[in-house]
Amino acid sequence: MRTNPLTTVRNLGILAHVDAGKTTVTERILYTTGTTHKRGEVHDGTTVTDFDPQERDRGITIFAAAVSCTWAGHRINLIDTPGHVDFADEVERSLRVLDGAVAVFDAVAGVEPQSESVWRQADRHGVPRIAFVNKMDRAGADLDAAVASIRERLHPVPLVVQLPIGAEDGFTGVVDLPRMRALVWADGADTAEEGPVPDALRAEAARRRRLLEEAVAERHPSALEEFCDRETLTAATLTAALRDLTRTGDGVVVLCGSAYRNRGVEPLLDAVLAYLPSPLDVPPVRGTHDGTEQERSADPAAPMAALAFKVNATATGRLTYLRVYSGTIEKGDTVWDAGTRRTERVGRILRVRADRHDPLERAVAGDIVAVVGLKSARAGSTLCTPGAPLLLEPPGVPEPVVHVA
Ligand code: GDP
Repeated sequence: MRTNPLTTVRNLGILAHVDAGKTTVTERILYTTGTTHKRGEVHDGTTVTDFDPQERDRGITIFAAAVSCTWAGHRINLIDTPGHVDFADEVERSLRVLDGAVAVFDAVAGVEPQSESVWRQADRHGVPRIAFVNKMDRAGADLDAAVASIRERLHPVPLVVQLPIGAEDGFTGVVDLPRMRALVWADGADTAEEGPVPDALRAEAARRRRLLEEAVAERHPSALEEFCDRETLTAATLTAALRDLTRTGDGVVVLCGSAYRNRGVEPLLDAVLAYLPSPLDVPPVRGTHDGTEQERSADPAAPMAALAFKVNATATGRLTYLRVYSGTIEKGDTVWDAGTRRTERVGRILRVRADRHDPLERAVAGDIVAVVGLKSARAGSTLCTPGAPLLLEPPGVPEPVVHVA
C-alpha cells in the first residue's frame, strides 16, 4: 500500500516571546536541514526569514514568511509567526495555517508575558505544541525552573523528555529519556555524538525517565495498562503515547538546548516529526457558503480550497503564500476568490526555500506554497475551485502588500 505523501509533511510555526530566540532557532533549523549552508546571525543581519530591513534593524520578526526544508525524508514548511504583540492579526492567521508549533522559552527568564499571550492564542486555535527551552548555555539557565514556570503560568502538563548534560557555559548535550541515550555536541560540532548515558547521570536519568513514564501513564489509558503490567513503558509505547498526548493537547513535550550554539536542534527536529501532526492528522477545515457551514478534508481529489496568508512584493513578483486545505491547485488554473467573488489566474507555483524558489506544477491539500500571478488576493483571501465556492475567512479590511527586497 502506498502511504499518503501528506504524512511526511509538517506545517510548523515557531512561537516565542521577543528575544527568546525564535529567529536563531529558525535559522539553525534551516542550517541543520541543509537549507542554508552558512549560519545566519541575528546581529549581522544575514538571517533568511527576516526579510525586511526594518525588521533586521529592530531585531524582531515582523513579517511572516514560509520556508520549506527537509529533515529525515519529511518536508517541514516553516511558517514564521510574528512574535510582536502589535501584529496580533498576523499571528492569528499564521496560527490558522499551521498544524503544530514549537514554543521557544528562555532558560533564564522562563515564561514571559508575551509567551503567555501567544500560548493562549495557540490554545484557542487548538495548535498542538512542543516546548523548546532555549539558551541553556546562559548563566542562570535552569530547565527545572523554566518547566515550573511553564506549568504554573500556562497550565499544560509538561512532559520533559530530556535531561541536560552540563550547565550554563558547560552545557554540552542532553540525555534523550525515551531512548535513554546521550547526545553530546563536541566543541564547534554541528552534529551530536550519540552514546550511553554518562555514569554520573545514570541515577538522575532513571529517576526522570520514571517521572516521565508516570506522567504519561496517568493520562494515557493504553500506556497505563502497560505500565500496570510491567511497571515500565517500552520506548515505542512511550513515544506513541507522547504523540497522542501532544496531538490532543493533554500534554506538552519539553526539550532543551542552545540554538545559538546549535545544540539541541537535531533532537528538536526529530521531535517535530515524532510528535506533531501532519495535515492528515488535523480536523477538516471549516468554511461557509451562502451562510451554511461546510467542511473540506485534506483530499487532493476534492474541490480546491486555499487560504492566502501573506502577500509579499518581491523581485520575483507578487508572492501570495497559500495554505492549500483541500484539492489540488495547478499552474495556469483559474481560481475563484470567494471574498471578492472574482476569478484570478494562477501563474507560477513556487516552493520557497531559504536560498531559492523551486517551481512546481501543482500543490495538493496540506501543502504551503507561494503563487505568482494573483492580482487581487490578499492575506485572508480564500481561493477555491470555480463552481465549488467556500469562504474560509470573512472579508475584512484589505492589508497592504509588504514590499521586500
Ligand atoms: P527572537 O526575538 O525571539 O527572534 O530572538 P533572537 O533569535 O533574535 O535572539 C535574541 C538574542 O538572544 C540574540 O542576541 C541571540 O543571539 C540570542 N540567543 C538566541 N539563542 C541563544 C542561545 O541559545 N544562547 C544564548 N546565550 N543566546 C541566544
